[in-house]
Amino acid sequence: MNTRLPSQDWPTLEPGWVWLCGAGPGDPGLLTLHALNALRQADVVIYDALVQETILDWASQAEHIYAGKRGGKPSANQRDISLRLVDLARAGKRVLRLKGGDPFVFGRGGEEAQTLVQHGIPIRIIPGISAGIGGLAYAGIPVTHRDVNQSVTFVTGHDQSGNATSSLNWAAIGKGSQVIVIYMGMKHIGQISASLIAAGRSISEPVAVVTSATTDQQNVLETTLGTVEADILKAGVEPPSIICIGQAVRMRDVLNWQAQAVGIMPTNLDPLGRGRPAETA
Ligand code: SAH
Repeated sequence: MNTRLPSQDWPTLEPGWVWLCGAGPGDPGLLTLHALNALRQADVVIYDALVQETILDWASQAEHIYAGKRGGKPSANQRDISLRLVDLARAGKRVLRLKGGDPFVFGRGGEEAQTLVQHGIPIRIIPGISAGIGGLAYAGIPVTHRDVNQSVTFVTGHDQSGNATSSLNWAAIGKGSQVIVIYMGMKHIGQISASLIAAGRSISEPVAVVTSATTDQQNVLETTLGTVEADILKAGVEPPSIICIGQAVRMRDVLNWQAQAVGIMPTNLDPLGRGRPAETA
């Protein structure tokens, strides 16, 4: 725990400051060095449900405050969390606000940061690896691949009210997005997949549902757009899950590195049927 970070002018977390920091999708090894530097200096760490608690071991000197939803208890109110951060900073604490993945990707980090600035609290933002990129990489799915897509669309499956995201034009997304990565998509996946099919996407388009990505509970369900809702129900998949729709999912046939690490070798080295080794064309 006392290993020094490589020499550089690592920023000091000063009393009265709040650092909003991404904790990555789960595996503590996916923390950034800035996150580690912050964990070691904090007086208080306020963390969310999706932050792996082992990460808090890096901040053994700090008070740990849980601000998430677990065990059916109501979620801490967003306004209460933001104001708590303000109070702690005003009390002269070195405050670390730790959020799952990246704080600015579907994580309300922008709202919290805005409240802090509005109250005159100095902040620093530490980005993290988002589940929609790093979580899929742990499942062997590259969010972009030259043979598959030149764009990727990150969407949330529900809006502030908890309903399916009505402000999204699913028909346009279906027509224009080569690979679609859905956060918080489990609840409304039936509605979402139906909209995408109605927009012309094939019922046989590959879909992966990656649950608890990068943790030792990681599970990957491979299915298709036509059967994703039924397969999620059948398999009893529990959140958190990230859903990836598109041909990129097929790359998992060759890139499932976690399976390969335990000796399960790929049977198809060219899942997209390009007939050439990558990097030659
Ligand atoms: N800021 C976070 C996202 C917060 S929204 C980030 O950048 O990753 C919460 C949603 O993120 C979950 O409902 C789920 O869709 C996704 N998610 C977060 N961590 C995950 C994980 N380890 N495995 C699968 N999905 C995850």
